[in-house]
Amino acid sequence: MDISVVVPLYNEAESLPELEAWITRVMNENNFTYEILFINDGSTDDSWEVIKRLRQQNPNVKGVSFRRNYGKSPALNTGFQRAQGDVVITMDADLQDSPDEIPELYRMITQDRYDLVSGWKQKRYDPLSKTIPTKLFNATARKVSGIRNLHDFNCGLKAYRNKVVKRIEVYGDMHRYVPYLAKNAGFNRIGEKVVHHQARKYGTTKFGLDRFVNGYLDLATLWFTSRFGIKPMHFFGLLGSLMFFLGLIAVAVVGFTKLYDMHHGNHYILVTDSPYFYLALTAMLLGAQLFLTGFIGELIVRNSDRRNEYEIEEEITTHC
Ligand code: UDP
Ligand code: MG
Repeated sequence: MDISVVVPLYNEAESLPELEAWITRVMNENNFTYEILFINDGSTDDSWEVIKRLRQQNPNVKGVSFRRNYGKSPALNTGFQRAQGDVVITMDADLQDSPDEIPELYRMITQDRYDLVSGWKQKRYDPLSKTIPTKLFNATARKVSGIRNLHDFNCGLKAYRNKVVKRIEVYGDMHRYVPYLAKNAGFNRIGEKVVHHQARKYGTTKFGLDRFVNGYLDLATLWFTSRFGIKPMHFFGLLGSLMFFLGLIAVAVVGFTKLYDMHHGNHYILVTDSPYFYLALTAMLLGAQLFLTGFIGELIVRNSDRRNEYEIEEEITTHC
């Protein structure tokens, strides 16, 4: 099979027939073999009934329905597990992404040999309250992830080589950072394609402004787990040691100053009267705690199935 189109959706009943017809037309015009995987993320409208009806008209339509609303990431993850096409395309259900982009995305994966191609809604049809924070968000994501050529991490329209989606796990709200997840899994041929974007035709957006707060927190989590996920001591141990020694030096300075002044008959103050004493104490306590957090982190990693998770790309063995 050439292409799997994965469409996560939550209350998008009005858009679905149009979307399915459009995808099908593009696929037929280009002679692609394909499947459309609709992942109904606990819709409360009749999206699922619409999907079942579409299936009767088109055997390439497949669907999964969640019991309740879990979020876009679990929906995408479910689609990724089931996708059979050589190229997997994700697309929002709200008709903001255009299926006309599919042939070129397919070509970029199969011929230009990209592992992942992300859409870039260069000209967006969204309110300003969304586009300005998005710019900031993408600049931070570029910096933190080290993927410098992406302008639009959270674009719903993306294409992947099949083995990329089988390798990564999208959970929580991590759908915003799939390119970062892919990069961490060793897929670093990441490309971008300018895509057309349309205003939402039916329904309303499912994400509020809290997306930006949560987006930043998730980015911090990903940065931390990708760097120190299996060696937390390297983070907490370093930070803890620095803090502790800073405190130790400060306490030594405070102590020796007093002894020196006493010895030379100068005016001196009690150690506990110096503000530096308290700063030093806090630093030492925090330092010790950070260090111990490192130990606890290491104990958790030791018991994790992922402590030795790596993937072998190729291997040469000798047969005697
Ligand atoms: N979506 C989903 N589960 C959710 C929220 C959204 O499957 O809990 C789907 C939604 O139906 C749409 C896509 O994710 O197909 C993107 O959502 P939306 O268009 O609301 O986001 P925006 O375009 O405003 O970023
Ligand atoms: Mg949308």
